[in-house]
Amino acid sequence: MFDFFSQHIEYLKGVGPAKAEILKKEARIHTYGDLLEYFPFRYIDRGRFIPISQVRDDRNYVALQGTIKSVEQKGFGAKKRLSAILSDGTGQIELAWFSGLKWLLPKIKPQVRVKVFGKPSVFNHRLSLNHPELEFAAEGNPQEENPGIQPLYTTTERMKNHGLGPKALSGITANLCRQARGSIPEILSQEILERYRLPLREDAFIQIHHPRSMEQAENARQRLKFEELLILQLKILQAKLKKRKSPGWTFEKVGENFLQFYQHNLDFSLTEAQKRVVKEIRADTKTGFQMNRLVQGDVGSGKTIVALMCMLLACDNGFQSCMMAPTEILARQHDASLRKFLRGMKIRTGLLTGSTSRKDRAILLNLLREGQIDILVGTHALLEDEVAFKNLGLAVIDEQHRFGVAQRAKLWAKNRIPPHVLVMTATPIPRTLGMTLYGDLDVSVIDQLPPNRKPVKTVHLTDKDRLRLFAFMKSEIAKGRQIYVVYPLIEESENMDLKDLMDGYESISRAFPVPDYQLSIVHGKMKAEAKEFEMERFKKGETQIMVSTTVIEVGVDVPNATVMVIENSERFGLAQLHQLRGRVGRGGQQSYCILMSSEKLSQDARERLQTMVSTNDGFKIAEADLKLRGPGDLQGTQQSGLLSLKIADIVQDGNIVKAARFTALEILQEDPGLLLAKNQRLVAEMEKHPAGNLWSQIS
Ligand code: ADP
Ligand code: MG
Repeated sequence: MFDFFSQHIEYLKGVGPAKAEILKKEARIHTYGDLLEYFPFRYIDRGRFIPISQVRDDRNYVALQGTIKSVEQKGFGAKKRLSAILSDGTGQIELAWFSGLKWLLPKIKPQVRVKVFGKPSVFNHRLSLNHPELEFAAEGNPQEENPGIQPLYTTTERMKNHGLGPKALSGITANLCRQARGSIPEILSQEILERYRLPLREDAFIQIHHPRSMEQAENARQRLKFEELLILQLKILQAKLKKRKSPGWTFEKVGENFLQFYQHNLDFSLTEAQKRVVKEIRADTKTGFQMNRLVQGDVGSGKTIVALMCMLLACDNGFQSCMMAPTEILARQHDASLRKFLRGMKIRTGLLTGSTSRKDRAILLNLLREGQIDILVGTHALLEDEVAFKNLGLAVIDEQHRFGVAQRAKLWAKNRIPPHVLVMTATPIPRTLGMTLYGDLDVSVIDQLPPNRKPVKTVHLTDKDRLRLFAFMKSEIAKGRQIYVVYPLIEESENMDLKDLMDGYESISRAFPVPDYQLSIVHGKMKAEAKEFEMERFKKGETQIMVSTTVIEVGVDVPNATVMVIENSERFGLAQLHQLRGRVGRGGQQSYCILMSSEKLSQDARERLQTMVSTNDGFKIAEADLKLRGPGDLQGTQQSGLLSLKIADIVQDGNIVKAARFTALEILQEDPGLLLAKNQRLVAEMEKHPAGNLWSQIS
């Protein structure tokens, strides 16, 4: 079958073998389809000239027309440039060229009328257009009246040098678009096109390159985004449907362990939100199908208890459970707190991490296989193949943002029928994003904090406030409270960061001398036992200040700690700052988060810190984070990278995500297997498009 998209690019008019080589190397354009999907990043509306007085340095392309006032050659040698002043009666602007002077010189003369297209920039406090495109308004050239909209494509230096600059590319895509007529079949139904007022597929591909109006370009873009997001949602939902239908273990009863814990060991009452989530999970585990559920709850909302109660449910029904944490410290802490919660009960727990000795590991794995361990806590060491259970019924993954979809799939393989999977995350994400990143999971939300929590007070201080800070820390310690002082650690600059930490530790030791004060220090270069030892001393209240790198970022729970001092806070992202702040405010006392930074800050950093000072709401912070950073590393880069989107942006295009989600559900409701004839073009496109393949692979 003839497929327009897979035609080789060298056969396109205006390309040929040499240019094809460059297109392949520089822009990965091998086929017609690749070029069709090489979308313009912007357009210049050559029909719309603006007055020079309205030109701003805002990086937008502008079209200007006017008269050349003066021309001058400036500089020497490599710095030589041609400078002309353009005037249109409303103002003047400098035009500058650094090459091609020989060609330009005879043409650019005072009194000549020209049209120019370019990006304004500021040079020596004056606006100028560097290397603008130039058209001479020669008399008797009427077809220039409506020159239309020109697409702008990303081009590299090499492309420009080989005759593939923006203008040439625009010519080539124009050829492609002429050929595309009649070659791009529709994949969406008439009904969907009408409902969302989308242009036809063929029109969209042509008009995104060569629109007749800006509105047409925008409609084309919306259409292509919709189609892409629809494909993504279809793959995600199919994966979810398949999983839904895959058999799961049944936890018939609420038994002795669950009840004993709930009635005797638990020394506080669950929040309504916690109760609701436990019920949702309980309902899932009775259906006979496998559960894949995400529990989302802000830091401190009490996710651990919820997970524990579910593991007890598994245990009461004769199944083992495991709980996986992202760091060794956190795994150890879970292990310790589970044992504390379970005191006096018959539940057998085990701990497996990267630093478990060979001998202990062998013993542990043996017990596990024989079913002598009910709950195994650990790090990603749990994922290894040799970790085999007798009868794994439930796998809990804590702090999902460190793990990817692939890890979940590994846990599924640990029993004959996959265990139920409970994923817990403190990272609040906007709903439309959640539909995508966690699209194959059912979601529960713990939207309530345990009672008597006072919101953490946050302030931003700079280095000159350090004495005040130390005085404040001393007054808190005098009240019997404990303090974290956290330093950033970023891998590339690890050594320098370690030095920062050590310098900080020194100065704190001087300000807080023994025997009045005891300090702990924890950093990534320490052995696991040493870290654990220091954490333990802090937890027991033997030390008042914990100086550390971000190893405590996730999950550490010391309710008596009321102050979180974050050094060089401008170097942390918002999500991380929010996590760190969540380490305090866990007891009944008023807690504080102190963001230290230097006086001088970038605009972004200032906004981040301001956001932290102004709100404690994880959702608001997540949204601000998205705006400042984009979705790039939102879920630990791995996941959003794997979405493989070519044109849509799951953050900016939230509304299209919703529409695509709705449409995907509708299509699958009518045709769960996507077998109907009318859906086959769409299916073919789904197979070609990489979006969402991750979900297809694991289902
Ligand atoms: P996170 O959701 O951040 O993992 P944790 O599970 O670590 O939160 O819980 C934070 C603290 O709150 C723990 O000390 C926990 O024992 C306590 N906690 C949890 N639920 C409740 C509750 N309903 N009432 C009082 N304290 C609670
Ligand atoms: Mg936690």
